[in-house]
Amino acid sequence: MKICVLGSGSAGNCTYIATAKARILVDLGFGRRSLDRRLQQAELSLDGLDALLLTHEHTDHISGVPALVRKKKVPVFLTEGTLRASPALQEVDRVTIVPVGSPFHIGDLEVEALPVSHDAGQPVGFRFAAGGVQGLLATDLGEPTPEITEPLADCDWLILESNHDEEMVMAGPYPWLLKQRLLGPTGHLSNLALGRCLKTHLGGKTKHILLAHLSRTNNHPQLALEQVSAALSGDAEGGESGPRVHLTHQNRPSIVLDL
Ligand SMILES: [Zn+2]
Ligand SMILES: [Zn+2]
Repeated sequence: MKICVLGSGSAGNCTYIATAKARILVDLGFGRRSLDRRLQQAELSLDGLDALLLTHEHTDHISGVPALVRKKKVPVFLTEGTLRASPALQEVDRVTIVPVGSPFHIGDLEVEALPVSHDAGQPVGFRFAAGGVQGLLATDLGEPTPEITEPLADCDWLILESNHDEEMVMAGPYPWLLKQRLLGPTGHLSNLALGRCLKTHLGGKTKHILLAHLSRTNNHPQLALEQVSAALSGDAEGGESGPRVHLTHQNRPSIVLDL
């Protein structure tokens, strides 16, 4: 399985996942030219794209969807609540409603949509499995819920939100209502909350953790890395034998995992 986060953050999200017989994108929150540049940088291709999966209807996850669907005629998989909440997605052809909590297949890739706690119509994360490799993608969640924490025991790779440092939010420029939304149970996950969640629920199988949806106003990449690594290893250096923690970026692709 090949996994690459092509872009992550409030200015646009997209993740590429490919197996021997399936090639998909999760979310598309930027335009075609930007998508093509990132794919080229990561040495990946959209040829034979099977599906575009959506986590929820917020603009940073769907702004590039209508144009890509028109051009590539690719089916869009989303929850019923996401479709209902988005006039823009109701204009899109080739929409498939996915069940929440029961697996379905795209080629050889098993996919399961899992509910997340976020202020959107029916937001989900996704669990993926193919060829004995299992992974989980969950961004845009105010708090970890059992549907998301249970699979952590058994995943080879994880893409999880490490949105902000709570002190930076409190001291930062956002209006009070926005701060409350961000820090609340249907907002976004902080570095420390992710760290606590991993410390409690992570199994021994995980090799790679990609930190996603970092805020440019309320976080620093190095701080997110240090806080999550510290929670995993008990010190700020990161463990030798534990999972490797990687950053994702707003304007360029992450490393390409090949598992
Ligand atoms: Zn988002
Ligand atoms: Zn969102």
